[in-house]
Amino acid sequence: MNKILKSIRTIPDFPKKGIMFRDVTTLFSNPPAFQETINEICNYWRNKSLTKIIGIEARGFILGSCVSLELNLPFIPIRKKGKLPYTTIEESYELEYGKATIEIHSDALNSNDNVLIIDDLIATGGTALASISLVKRLEASVSGCSFIIDLPILDGKKKIVDLGIEVQTLCEFSGH
Ligand code: AMP
Repeated sequence: MNKILKSIRTIPDFPKKGIMFRDVTTLFSNPPAFQETINEICNYWRNKSLTKIIGIEARGFILGSCVSLELNLPFIPIRKKGKLPYTTIEESYELEYGKATIEIHSDALNSNDNVLIIDDLIATGGTALASISLVKRLEASVSGCSFIIDLPILDGKKKIVDLGIEVQTLCEFSGH
């Protein structure tokens, strides 16, 4: 756990003043910390009847693809608007810094699916809530969400737990 926390670099005032950017590229470039991250996520969700792993662009792709191969489950991307080539459904939401629209392929999930949604960090929860909404619109269920980092002051994790969805976070930082 400490190995994970210590491997994350903080960049003050990126991408704009007042944001403390929690940079996981330093975790991805540290094999013991990266491996422990993937192990913690896989050990938590193994044997929980998941059918698919969803990764949110872009850092969620890196984590989600490792987890999907380790758990031998299909990987499904949620991407920023305009990137996915086939028919999509979309959701728009507020970010901690700015606005965004995300999409999923309309044939990626169905009512037999129980998914795990993965991203590097949960802040306000806007990205995760929009992702949950995309999954539900395709009639699939969300078994849970995993994030390396929680920013508890922004209450995002609580918003998801309040929906009755299990949330795994591996470390937290105080402040924004
Ligand atoms: P939110 O939708 O507010 O929960 O924001 C989560 C998304 O924005 C994730 O994809 C994060 O990678 C990114 N993000 C938000 N705040 C930060 C931060 N302080 N440091 C790094 N990434 C962040």
